[in-house]
Amino acid sequence: MIVDLRSDTVTKPTPGMMEAMMSAKVGDDVFGEDETINELEEKAAKIFGKEAGIFCPSGTMTNQIGIKCFTQPLDELIADQTSHVYRYEGGGIAFNSSVSTRLLYGERGIITAGMIEPEINAINDHYPRTSLVVLENTVNKGGGSCYTLEQIKPIAELCKAKGLKLHLDGARIFNAVTKTGDKAADYGKYFDGISVCLSKGLGAPVGSVFLADKETIKYARRLRKVFGGGMRQAGFLAAAGIYALDHHIERLSIDHAHAQILADALAKCPWVSNVLPADTNLVLFDTVEPTSTVLQKLAEHGIKALSTGPNRIRFVLHLDVHADQVEHVVKTLSVI
Ligand SMILES: *Cc1c(COP(=O)(O)O)cnc(C)c1O
Repeated sequence: MIVDLRSDTVTKPTPGMMEAMMSAKVGDDVFGEDETINELEEKAAKIFGKEAGIFCPSGTMTNQIGIKCFTQPLDELIADQTSHVYRYEGGGIAFNSSVSTRLLYGERGIITAGMIEPEINAINDHYPRTSLVVLENTVNKGGGSCYTLEQIKPIAELCKAKGLKLHLDGARIFNAVTKTGDKAADYGKYFDGISVCLSKGLGAPVGSVFLADKETIKYARRLRKVFGGGMRQAGFLAAAGIYALDHHIERLSIDHAHAQILADALAKCPWVSNVLPADTNLVLFDTVEPTSTVLQKLAEHGIKALSTGPNRIRFVLHLDVHADQVEHVVKTLSVI
């Protein structure tokens, strides 16, 4: 048995999703003529209470487009030090937007208005102009930790009062709302821009959407072309996204339950020194032995995982990990 816990990006389209893709009506999206993409963009915008959306090849692109929409060169954005936009997008903030980054040290990646406020630069020629705050929900490097809307509200209010834009890296936003019970539709009130991945826990093979007001999305379409992300008959991919939104949101609670089962099993292992709370679909834990030794032993039992730091391993649950596979992992953990 193979159990791939490396990432929630490793999922393959389900038969139902494949069928939806094969029967998609497509057109040239650079001309705005792909009706399936148009449908996906409208549907996603509606779910989050934003006016409009744009379908892009990756979450990196939707984040980078968002950052570029909301900043000018020589500006500064504020984000947690663990954030994907800062750590895992290849330095794109500086390269694409000529913007510097002020890092905060949140609790498992969760930052507060009280932490942000003192880091907003005064208007002074010495300082870059602070123009944007980026939140991530759930936080990847925090082990799937998440914000409630109640925690987000004071941040949004601060941003409004100070004239800053607020962008959400919502690669796993549906995991967050599954956990918190918040309504996705309320997110639109607080965030100027929202990036949502369809190819993580939702199980689509490719794609993310960026959601904002109509004017911002108009500019985002121009930026997507400049970034080389203008696709043609990509409705085949958008159809997978629509299918994912219709069929793969409710089941995320299964991944969360599986994550909890693995976290509980890990807590009993003498070779594990620390397990972070499994708030959603990610389980981060620290090992006594070097991670390479542990990963090797897991691999011998068909279990694939990644090391994400010195002595730290990450398990990611997703729709291609079923109950019997979770059971196999639990058994394996007790014998290695
Ligand atoms: C995966 C991920 C992204 C986007 O990644 P792509 O591989 O470019 O689609 C953005 N933010 C977070 C937190 C992620 O985990």
